[in-house]
Amino acid sequence: MDFVMSDAKKLLTEKIMQADAIVIGGGSGLSSAAGYDHYHWSPALRESLDVFREYYGFRSPLDGFYHCFSSYEEQWGYYSQYIRFMWEAPPGQTYLDLKEIVGQKPCFILTTNVDMQFFKVFPKEQICAFQGDFQYCQCSQPCEDVLYDSRRMVEAMTEQLIDGVKIKTDMVPRCGKCGRVMVPWVRDDSFLEGKYWAEQAEQYHRFLRHWIAEQGDSQVLLLELGVGEMTPSVIKLPFWEMAEKNRNVFYACLNKKPSHAPEHLRGKSLYLEGDLKETLGSLKEEVKRYR
Ligand SMILES: [Zn+2]
Repeated sequence: MDFVMSDAKKLLTEKIMQADAIVIGGGSGLSSAAGYDHYHWSPALRESLDVFREYYGFRSPLDGFYHCFSSYEEQWGYYSQYIRFMWEAPPGQTYLDLKEIVGQKPCFILTTNVDMQFFKVFPKEQICAFQGDFQYCQCSQPCEDVLYDSRRMVEAMTEQLIDGVKIKTDMVPRCGKCGRVMVPWVRDDSFLEGKYWAEQAEQYHRFLRHWIAEQGDSQVLLLELGVGEMTPSVIKLPFWEMAEKNRNVFYACLNKKPSHAPEHLRGKSLYLEGDLKETLGSLKEEVKRYR
């Protein structure tokens, strides 16, 4: 097993070195491995949100996000603390290692993560946050195509939490135009797929067109990291299709859970199982030795 693992790692190091461009598909496993698990209580988030965890009995940070609160004051009490945590969380090691692995190579990130981590490490112009991101909020209708930066707002709210869990009524954020409550810019029923969302998606497709369609001889590496099974249509399936259809595209999947590269991509793909923090940490060292 060790032999197989190190073989895959060696092949991946080669593919990284050979790549003219890298497309990263980033999923929640990348944040979990950095200590920011939103699906279970891990120490950092637990410490920041413990009052809410105890008060409501949330099973995870995201459980709290989807909780049906009895008032906007309570809802935004939780949102504000949760979002403030994300603003203040330092960039995770997996993200920093990834940045070093990519180095100066042209790169674009497609992610379903909404926790700002990619934005702390890579330029905004290289990221498509397909499911939104907590750094913004929007009108819940939405009545207009505008995103608002959430930072100052959540800072102000968290400084005056009543009983540690809710905000004052006059602090409930409301749309300046229609008066409805604001919601985080994260995919749900009223998610705003507006101008900014479309621009990000267009930048992503432009990158793919340039490196795959127009530069026919370029070697392109699709690097899928910690992508779960929940929304395969966003990253996994399109990556498989690109690797299948294009001669110079190679697909690498890194995940904690046992899985395998799809059979039809034999010879054009690899699967590397293991803790992403360890894998990316050692890949970073490998890549450094080659450079
Ligand atoms: Zn509105």
